[in-house]
Amino acid sequence: MGKKPNKAKKATKNSKSTSAKATTLAPISFTDALRVNEGFLLSECDPRSTPAFAGDKAAGAKALEARAGEIGEFQERLYGESKVDGQRSLLLVVQGMDTSGKGGIMRHVVGQMDPQGVKYTAFKAPSAEERAHPFLWRIRNALPHPGQIGVFDRSHYEDVLVVRVHDLVPKATWSRRYAQINDFEAKAVEAGTTVVKVMLHISSDEQKSRLTRRLERIDKQWKYNPGDVDERLLWPMYQEAYQAVLDRTSTDAAPWYVVPANRKWYARLAVQSLVLECLEAMDPQWPKVDYDVEAEKARLAAT
Ligand code: AMP
Ligand code: MG
Repeated sequence: MGKKPNKAKKATKNSKSTSAKATTLAPISFTDALRVNEGFLLSECDPRSTPAFAGDKAAGAKALEARAGEIGEFQERLYGESKVDGQRSLLLVVQGMDTSGKGGIMRHVVGQMDPQGVKYTAFKAPSAEERAHPFLWRIRNALPHPGQIGVFDRSHYEDVLVVRVHDLVPKATWSRRYAQINDFEAKAVEAGTTVVKVMLHISSDEQKSRLTRRLERIDKQWKYNPGDVDERLLWPMYQEAYQAVLDRTSTDAAPWYVVPANRKWYARLAVQSLVLECLEAMDPQWPKVDYDVEAEKARLAAT
C-alpha cells in the first residue's frame, strides 16, 4: 500500500471501499474485528494482538501514512453535504486507562484531519459550573455540528468509570447513567451523528513500563502525575468498570470497539481505519449546486 501517495485518495472518488486492496490488511474489516458484541470479555482480549492487520510495525506505520489523505476528502464531502441540507456528522469517542495512548491518537490520527472540520474536546474533572448541571450537559454542548467530526478525548464515560471507582456520586446515581447514556447516544444518532466509541486496551504491565519511562525521561516527566500510581492500584476496579461499560452501552446505535493498544503503531492504524470505514459507509456525496454550471462557464468565458 502507498506506493503512490495519491492512489487511495483518487479511489474514494468513485468507490466506497479502498481498504481491501492492501495485502497486509486481512479480509475482515477493523469494524468487524474490533466490535464489542454480546458476551465480549475484556480479560480475554490480548492487548498485544493486531486484529485485521497482518503486517509488522513498519508496515503499520506505512499504512497509517498512506491513508492519511483519505480522511481529508471524506471530511470535505461531509462538510459540503452539510452546506446544502445534510445533517450528518461523526463522533469519535476515545477512552482508555492512563498511558493507553489517547494523546498519540490525537496527534497521529486526529492530526491527519482538516482542523476546520474537527470539533475536539478533552474532558477533565468537571468544573463547578459543569457540576451544577446534569452530567450530560457538557457532553451535549460538545457534540459535532452537521458536517463536522467530533472528537472526545475522554467523555461522558468518565461519569461511570472514575466516578464509579471513586464513589464520586452515590451508586444509585451512577448506576442509572448507563441507560441515560444509551438514550442520549440513540438520540444523537437519530439526529444524524454516527457514533464510534473506542477503548484503547493496554495491559497492566504495559502501563507500568510506560509510567516508568515517563519518570526516567526528562522530556516525559511532565506527563507523570504522582496520582497515577494511586490510580494504578485500582486497576482491577477500573477493568471491572470498563467491562460494565462494554456490557451495558455497546448498542446497535452506538457500538464500542476495543482496540488492543500495547503496540502504539497498531492502535493508531486501527483507530484511523475505524474512522475511515465509518466514513466509507456514510458515503458522503459532493453537494449538487443550484446553478447552471454550463451557463456559468459560458458567462465566465465571455468576461
Ligand atoms: P488527563 O486526561 O490525564 O488530562 O486527566 C484528566 C482527568 O480528568 C482524569 O483523571 C479523569 O479521570 C478526570 N475526569 C474526566 N472526566 C471526569 C468526570 N466526569 N468526573 C471526574 N473526573 C473526570
Ligand atoms: Mg493523566
